[in-house]
Amino acid sequence: MSEKKKALNITDAEWEVMRVAWATEETTSKEVTDILNEKTEWKSTTVKTLLSRLVDKGMLGTKRNGNKFTYFPLVEERKSIEVLSEEMLTKVCSKKVGKVLESIIAESLLSFDDIDELEALLKEKRKSAVDVVPCNCTPGQCQCHLVH
Ligand SMILES: [Zn+2]
Repeated sequence: MSEKKKALNITDAEWEVMRVAWATEETTSKEVTDILNEKTEWKSTTVKTLLSRLVDKGMLGTKRNGNKFTYFPLVEERKSIEVLSEEMLTKVCSKKVGKVLESIIAESLLSFDDIDELEALLKEKRKSAVDVVPCNCTPGQCQCHLVH
């Protein structure tokens, strides 16, 4: 087993709420409901449940302002995106990670700056590249162990 990094452990619905919290810095359940009603039909009770789960998980802090509660992020968006992408890559055979990255890049609209940064990163990665990436899977979860 590779070392286990701190998992994000939040659902897609909770992630939607976190995006509002990051964008607004401090928000209320009403504001989250209004913003997310552009793309979901979540009732305010649903949003309140999601907010309290995120508080339980340590992703959001909350404080009382008069008779209402406000919510603010306790984790950085940037850090969470890093954890999210690491999590995604642990779900595939390490031999296929290159292909996953390739398809992410192929499907993304990128700026010239993005491309400059990716090119610089790849140039740096070349220094530590290997001939063949070793498989890190549990035997039976990929086909690497069948072919020799
Ligand atoms: Zn494998």
